[in-house]
Amino acid sequence: MKVTCPEKRVLQDRCTTSSHVYAESLAFLSAKVGTVSKQEYERLHSIMLHFRKQLEMARIELEKHKTEHGCGDDPKAMAATNAN
Ligand SMILES: [Zn+2]
Repeated sequence: MKVTCPEKRVLQDRCTTSSHVYAESLAFLSAKVGTVSKQEYERLHSIMLHFRKQLEMARIELEKHKTEHGCGDDPKAMAATNAN
């Protein structure tokens, strides 16, 4: 039986959470287009970019860990990494 690397699980969870948060902020932003002021839109847009950055960082950390630790053969990891 294969043991899943606990650190990888943590990083995967972070990727999953980050991608959900980013998707929600993107959906929220899309829903607000044309209904809010330019300033408000830019504020929401910068928040969305912040979440996207967090997602990118989480993915980079996961990839880095898998490369360094040699634990990157989990299909769930691939799904989390490739989800966009
Ligand atoms: Zn690992």
